[in-house]
Amino acid sequence: MDSIQDQTNAVRGNCRRLMSAAVFLDRDGVLIADNNLLTDAGDIRVLADVPQALSRLKKASFQLVVVSNQAVVARGLVTEQEVDAINAEMERLLEQADGPRLDGFYFCPHHPNATLPAYRADCECRKPRPGLLLRAAREHNLDLGKSFMVGDRITDIIAGARAGCRTVLVQTGQHQAPPIETVEPLDETVQPDHVCADLETAAEWILALRRGSGQGAR
Ligand SMILES: [Mg+2]
Ligand SMILES: [Zn+2]
Repeated sequence: MDSIQDQTNAVRGNCRRLMSAAVFLDRDGVLIADNNLLTDAGDIRVLADVPQALSRLKKASFQLVVVSNQAVVARGLVTEQEVDAINAEMERLLEQADGPRLDGFYFCPHHPNATLPAYRADCECRKPRPGLLLRAAREHNLDLGKSFMVGDRITDIIAGARAGCRTVLVQTGQHQAPPIETVEPLDETVQPDHVCADLETAAEWILALRRGSGQGAR
């Protein structure tokens, strides 16, 4: 008869098999052009090759989850409902370009020095903190250790690393801009696991790594 430990290990193994891996994606500067303050859905510009890169990741069974700081809400420039509408329009544009459906969209509306008092918070969800990724992992049953975070800022990379994901810095956005305002100093020991030009090359790296680790792209 199997020992309790064997049974426990078997259950753990089953749970892990049921969990999906995700590619967490920053929005501005990764999926769409970062024009600093996006407040109008008419200004969305999907970056080159993004729909195809997303399709490749989706075909390899990754869930695609957007995790985005939207301090424009804290500044009173758009409402949370307007952020939802901008995201819906982005999804429409991606699908129109033969991209896949996204599996989730999470954003932080807060800022430590928000104009609107309701959003003035030292929250757990503003990257570089990992709150958005952790929430998505709970709600989508994601295995963070098999997941990746793709971003254009070091704060995206720190959030991904803190959540236990591997990280990729792309150079289609604010990779050279000064870091965003944060409550605590940035952890300068965190470096991306990979740096590349754009989401297409990030997807290639992720898929090669997954093939190499024997998990097999389905
Ligand atoms: Mg960005
Ligand atoms: Zn927040």
